[in-house]
Amino acid sequence: MSLNTQILIAAILGVAFGFLLNLFPHTAFFDFSLYGLGLASSIFIGLLKMLLIPLIFSSIVVGVSNLQAGGQLGRVWKITLLCCVTTTTLALILGIGCAHLFDVGKGVDIVMFQDAMNSHQTPDTLTPSSFFSNFIQNTLINPFKAFAEGNVLAVVVFALLIGVALVKGGENFRSVRKLSLQFFDIMMMMIGWVMKLAPIGIFALLVKLISTEDISVLSRLAEFAAVVTGTTIFHGAVVLPLLLWIFGKMSPITFFRGTRAALITAFATSSSSATMPLSMKCAQENLKVRPQTAGFVIPLGTQLNMDGTALYEAAAALFIANLMGLDLSLGQQLIVCATAMIASLGAPGIPSAGMVTMIMVLQSVGLPAEAIAILLPIDRLLDTVRTVVNVQGDMMISVVVDRYSREPQVD
Ligand code: ASP
Repeated sequence: MSLNTQILIAAILGVAFGFLLNLFPHTAFFDFSLYGLGLASSIFIGLLKMLLIPLIFSSIVVGVSNLQAGGQLGRVWKITLLCCVTTTTLALILGIGCAHLFDVGKGVDIVMFQDAMNSHQTPDTLTPSSFFSNFIQNTLINPFKAFAEGNVLAVVVFALLIGVALVKGGENFRSVRKLSLQFFDIMMMMIGWVMKLAPIGIFALLVKLISTEDISVLSRLAEFAAVVTGTTIFHGAVVLPLLLWIFGKMSPITFFRGTRAALITAFATSSSSATMPLSMKCAQENLKVRPQTAGFVIPLGTQLNMDGTALYEAAAALFIANLMGLDLSLGQQLIVCATAMIASLGAPGIPSAGMVTMIMVLQSVGLPAEAIAILLPIDRLLDTVRTVVNVQGDMMISVVVDRYSREPQVD
């Protein structure tokens, strides 16, 4: 049985077993199962995290330094950025548009959230200006510290600079380029081993997710959850495939068939970073994206391109405003969009990261940061779908960028 099929079966079984476990809460069987599943999922996620930093570093160094041939560096950069900004903007428009269309949160009695509002601890305030200074302070740091702390964005910046230096140095640095390439190959081989465990890890993660959510709390936010989920799915099932078809000349069926394993992993882990090794593998092996393009676009996209997160943050800000009975002006909605875009850039690819940067979006238009308490009960659930779209966007952009940057290869 192929790994894809095994993952699919594991996902279905995981959801079914999760609902089953929900029927026996607070029993020894429940606790024992959760303990075992917790161990299995931590081994899977732990192994992926272990490989993450060396993989990101080597893939960006190799990706950038390989762009040397045909002077494609500037070109790939520009197309990647253009694609990221375009797809994120479309996601923001969809998020705002659907929140309006369905009037999410209007007429809901805010008192029902009073408990959550009262018990919520206000997180540190995050304004756009403090966001930028934090961003710079945390990004331009000693690379060894960045490696040791697993600071992905700082590693990305350092790897980009090394890659550019390797391009500029040309033949002088040939051996370092070769070494980076071999190191990258070793990482890919190890990821192949970890992926053999994916079906077990995904099963465990899904059972845990479904069996520990409080269904009664979830139902209160069902309308908002349904609108955001529906809109996010629309973005992933219609908007992105259409762009892929027009600009990448690839059929959505080929795309979804080739990326199924990565998408299901994204759903189960709610982490673009944990899924990245698999996204890279799917893009290269199934979508036939050249390694130098995938090695550059996917790690970068994992950090910076999050359509699902941007869509969610924009819609959630409107939802909160509606709950409070506030009508945001057009100008305020534009501020929400701009801040949601920055917030999606800054959100790391880990579960519920969007929740943290959400504070910045709320505060940009004077909404209370405490209001995120309202969203907390449904966040993990919504995170699954938005992470799938985040990951899908990265793989899709790698196809488009690969097509537009193809030039005769010289080595
Ligand atoms: N979990 C998302 C991701 O990894 C980020 C988010 O919380 O929106 O892509």
